[in-house]
Amino acid sequence: MCGIVAYIGSREAYPILIKGLRRLEYRGYDSAGVALLNKGNLSVYKKEGKVAVLEDFAKNHDIAGNIGIGHTRWATHGVPCDRNAHPHLSNSHRLAIIHNGIIENYASLKAELETRGYVFESDTDTEVLLNLIEDIQKEEKRTIEEAVRVALNEVVGAYAIVVIDKNEPDKIIAARKGSPLVIGIGQNEFFVASDASPIIEYTNNVVYLNDEEFAVLNRNGQLDIKTLGNLEKTPYIQKLEMDLEKIEKGGYEHFMLKEIYEQPQVILDCMRGRMNAEQGWIKLGGVNEYATRINNAKRIIITACGTSWHSGLIGEYLIEELARVPVEVEYASEFRYRNPIVTQNDVVLAISQSGETADTLSAIQIAKERQALIYGICNVIGSSIAREAHAGSYTHAGPEIGVASTKAFTVQVTILTLMALQLAQSKGTISQSRLRTILYEMEQVPEKVKQTLKLDVKIKEIAAKYFEAKNFLYLGRGLAFPIALEGALKLKEISYIHAEGYPAAEMKHGPIALIDENMPVVFIATNKSAHEKIVSNIQEVKARKGKVIAIILEGDETIKGLADDYIEVPDTDELLSPLVAIVPLQLLSYHIALMRGCNVDQPRNLAKSVTVE
Ligand code: GLU
Repeated sequence: MCGIVAYIGSREAYPILIKGLRRLEYRGYDSAGVALLNKGNLSVYKKEGKVAVLEDFAKNHDIAGNIGIGHTRWATHGVPCDRNAHPHLSNSHRLAIIHNGIIENYASLKAELETRGYVFESDTDTEVLLNLIEDIQKEEKRTIEEAVRVALNEVVGAYAIVVIDKNEPDKIIAARKGSPLVIGIGQNEFFVASDASPIIEYTNNVVYLNDEEFAVLNRNGQLDIKTLGNLEKTPYIQKLEMDLEKIEKGGYEHFMLKEIYEQPQVILDCMRGRMNAEQGWIKLGGVNEYATRINNAKRIIITACGTSWHSGLIGEYLIEELARVPVEVEYASEFRYRNPIVTQNDVVLAISQSGETADTLSAIQIAKERQALIYGICNVIGSSIAREAHAGSYTHAGPEIGVASTKAFTVQVTILTLMALQLAQSKGTISQSRLRTILYEMEQVPEKVKQTLKLDVKIKEIAAKYFEAKNFLYLGRGLAFPIALEGALKLKEISYIHAEGYPAAEMKHGPIALIDENMPVVFIATNKSAHEKIVSNIQEVKARKGKVIAIILEGDETIKGLADDYIEVPDTDELLSPLVAIVPLQLLSYHIALMRGCNVDQPRNLAKSVTVE
């Protein structure tokens, strides 16, 4: 979380920083700020709120300078306010820093610095790190890059930082551990950012900094990279493959809506080259290379957070059903801290849209130490989880900018479905004809998602009936249960309505007490094998005057006759039903949030790419 952008070269830095911050705003929007170095002057402008507030403020100030750093914050230490906004200045006002992450031992470092006379203006951990750098620079008479390196050897935690020094106006220092940082290389100019989106229109030559490395970017075009242990590294320059139009709204009112509508295409892109229904094959990256270990795995552990955890639950159902391998789905944040039993006979699937989720990254590091095979399922190419994993598949959904994940979820489910099928085929737990049938049905899924998107007008009408509700319950059985969880999460995230997802049969063990005439209950009734049971659950809700909104298969007259409102989606193979059933729930949340006046793309307190614990 938090967006970092920096520039050194001969152009004006400010416009590059502001444009970059707008692109990175999905990562945090508690405050925004820039620091500019011009003719020996270091100016800092920072404001609580969005980048637009900063722009408004800065327009009356001197924004000249061709070296600068910018930040959009997702607060961890200290409330969002001007004082806590980045960049921070050191006590002497010689140094400025931007930081993404958490310095865990900041309290002891701060106490130590205070005894030596340092004064802190903010409540952040970041300002402590900067004054530590300054202290080392002063006391040990070190260059700025050396002071940064020594200081980083003293801190515990995660960071991506950029530091500038008023007295060294021809260089900027960038370093990372646990939070992403990419360096763009132009003609005698450098860009630094949390992801490639602020860089793409200037250059497509990039270097992804590795953990515990720092870079010195010199105005003369020289790039030096070293480890924190002071070993020189040769920069590995990669070509960026990113399309500018993919990070713009392209006529849609919101990124979230655009991304919901992109689903037919991205599911198709995700399947392309990985399966063939006619010939009955599936080929996921890296699976062949590790075929013996994957096929002989005693257990598969899926680890993820948030929406990715929900796709993991679907993966569990599919893999156990099709390939008959035991699967456990673990919240990465719990897994990493509970001394889990993992052996070399386990395969760990790590799922993360950004590939930077701090908890998931740590979880796989633990599993790797314990000799498990790590398979990553990420969307962002070159991301930390993708690099840390032994093998993996990219989901190819293109940039997802709306903070509430939509298309990233459906492509994760697509990969997990292919994985379950491939495993089943190798293990001989599926007949070739059943495999072909499912693959044929998979080829139809993009079209069925497209048809489901046409229900938008009706979904909006339903949203208008319920948008003032204070609570929602989402219920489903089997494969529809994770969809209930994901539907409820979408509503919570963007409309701030309290919503719970539950297995429909569990309702009677507690949540049924919540039901009265004010409680909308969304039933996901798209799996035929659970039809009769779900009908009974609907009856139970109706008997208590609850309002039923049902997601049903086309032509389901029974539920149509019972529900207050229904959304009919096209039928598909039951194993593929999550890919279709989630779409109306995404749209329902979207419309409800808009009707409540919420910021759909940047919901409060949230940010995308959770790079802090
Ligand atoms: N820990 C720092 C702060 O609270 C940085 C948080 C971030 O990543 O935005 O300001």
